[in-house]
Amino acid sequence: MSDMINVEELFGSRVFTVGKMKERLPKQVFAEVRRVTEQGGELPLATADVVAKAMKDWAVENGATHYTHWFQPLTGITAEKHDAFVSHPDGEGRMLLEFSGKELIKGEPDASSFPSGGLRATFEARGYTAWDMTSPAFLKEDATGVILCIPTAFCSYTGEALDKKTPLLRSMEAISQQALRIVRLFGDNKATKVVPSVGAEQEYFLVDREKYLKREDLIFAGRTLFGAPAPKGQELEDHYFGTIRERIGAYMKDLNIELWKLGVTAKTQHNEAAPAQHELAPIYETANIAVDHNQLVMETMKKVAGRHGLTCLLHEKPFAGVNGSGKHDNWSLCTDNGVNLLDPGDTPNANIQFLLVLACIMKAVDTHADLLRQSASDVGNDHRLGANEAPPAIISMFLGEQLDDVVKQLVETGEAAHLIEGGKLETGVSTLPDFEKDATDRNRTSPFAFTGNKFEFRTVGSADSIASPNTTLNAIVAEAFCEAADTLEAEMAAGKAFELAVHDLIKEYMSRHQRIIFNGDGYSEEWVKEAERRGLPNIRTMVEAAGTLTTDKAIRLFEKFGIFTRVELESREEILYETYAKTVNIEALTMINMANKRYIPAVVGYTKTLADTVIAVREAGADSSVQTELLSEVSQGLAAARKALKELERVTAQAVAMPDAKAQAFFYMDTVKRAMDALRLPVDALEMLVDKKVWPVPSYGELIFEV
Ligand code: ADP
Ligand code: MG
Repeated sequence: MSDMINVEELFGSRVFTVGKMKERLPKQVFAEVRRVTEQGGELPLATADVVAKAMKDWAVENGATHYTHWFQPLTGITAEKHDAFVSHPDGEGRMLLEFSGKELIKGEPDASSFPSGGLRATFEARGYTAWDMTSPAFLKEDATGVILCIPTAFCSYTGEALDKKTPLLRSMEAISQQALRIVRLFGDNKATKVVPSVGAEQEYFLVDREKYLKREDLIFAGRTLFGAPAPKGQELEDHYFGTIRERIGAYMKDLNIELWKLGVTAKTQHNEAAPAQHELAPIYETANIAVDHNQLVMETMKKVAGRHGLTCLLHEKPFAGVNGSGKHDNWSLCTDNGVNLLDPGDTPNANIQFLLVLACIMKAVDTHADLLRQSASDVGNDHRLGANEAPPAIISMFLGEQLDDVVKQLVETGEAAHLIEGGKLETGVSTLPDFEKDATDRNRTSPFAFTGNKFEFRTVGSADSIASPNTTLNAIVAEAFCEAADTLEAEMAAGKAFELAVHDLIKEYMSRHQRIIFNGDGYSEEWVKEAERRGLPNIRTMVEAAGTLTTDKAIRLFEKFGIFTRVELESREEILYETYAKTVNIEALTMINMANKRYIPAVVGYTKTLADTVIAVREAGADSSVQTELLSEVSQGLAAARKALKELERVTAQAVAMPDAKAQAFFYMDTVKRAMDALRLPVDALEMLVDKKVWPVPSYGELIFEV
């Protein structure tokens, strides 16, 4: 078979893997690279030169002409600037391809056009990229040719992080240090680090590219800003896990191949709840690599779609009234000797290390629910959170029946003597096996759910980088571990028995933070009230969440572990306001544009047709009352749309003129968005009245059912 896929051969073929380094580098150099990768430190320039040459040779053998420092500025996507391997021709005019250790390790892109939130004074345009040795270099191939991509961190001249990778790496060091203190107390003297593992399930929509190109809202905003609902939605639930259509299947196959080449372990694929919605999940890996890979997944999804005449929409809410997209961030902690700290084992009630870890996570999530909420906010996600399809904006934890019961016993009596067993699930068919029932049941409505040996943070938006959620998780749990270790170490020094000290601490933390546990329906109105009674924050929007970054509590946390400085936090808050204002501004302008140039002219034309018809029918002596009535309804809709359009134009102009970023963001949220909704209403109503033949853009039905 000619198109047989050899996954073993494909996998990692475009990655400068550890295996390839081992093959191509002198033994000593390889050992040095491994040491720095594992333990940190700097690679001497002479060594870096050797690595750079090997990397370049491999890249050139595979067709590369350029290299780039690939980084993740605060835009949430990745950035690259290509440099060819070319150098000065020699005396005879021959080209020798060059790539030095210095070029590998450090870059100096002009950074003045990336968001910096005031971090880098405008006259200081320099930014530096530094090679992140923990994430492997890879080759990107597209119409530009083959580019060697070197994952890098991006900092300002004064060392402030201008990107999402630097704080993530800092947070990974923090949690490793603090988690090590915990496992040491439990007698593990072998582990040398603790690494957060992350698996991100990515949801996405595919629409036909021809239809996509007919809608400015999809082009400019990534989501529809107008559109009457289709007669059919997802009520039949016939899409979720449904058979994958040929065209989509061909896309998924191609996508997998591209991802495998890049070393991304694309594993699971299926249709999602909404029509035209799908999901891809890779196998989990080290947080830092998982973040890089998720960026590659998103990029590749878009790129491959083009080849199939499709467009991939990663927006959290491409279609009003249709299920939106998210990204489940699965997170756990593993020692480098293979122990998952979140694995409860068969008897979690007796596993005191696990119970302490769990107690610390309860404390972390309860103390910093606001920060966790913030870490998952982006402009698109505001359309999803709390909208009965995604977890609410209120952060709570779900533990499942068994663990929940263990926590209750510990809180009430200080002991967890018994364990609710999963039991057997009888199929009732003699030829089918009975299953052991999983005692960690599922709850799809919880934002932060324990699922067996990991937590699944489900609030994250589909288009967003997963760097912030994981940085935040690492930071808040590092703090809880640190406080627990401080307490335990002090108590033991004072002569208290370790077992007793741990036992008391677990009880204390679980009692104090039990309010964060919620096992009921997170979509319900009662939960909103109950959460309020419990004092849990309900931060409904991104703009309101931004301020959580600069509370005293947040600054103390992030500065203590060297993850963000106060200045870095302030700049991030500022960028969030700017991003919000800019995004909503684009949406508003797109609506104004579409209303002025598409909808209103189309409807005006239609009223003329109707008016001509009325006259003609009347002249012919027939009853023209239906035509007259329709004309009157359409004209009224047109007037309403025009009025709303003028109002949107007015408030948008007012918003643009506002000098203060925070006030401006709030104004876009409170006033401009309302004016946008007010314009959408009459236009969508007109779509239901006007002849389909004259409607200027593809409908929801055509977009989501005709792919
Ligand atoms: P679901 O039922 O939620 O779809 P899956 O079993 O498909 O769950 O796993 C979802 C994601 O969680 C995958 O990316 C998977 O690799 C990841 N995952 C599994 N175990 C862990 C773990 N211990 N730590 C982090 N992620 C994990
Ligand atoms: Mg899941």
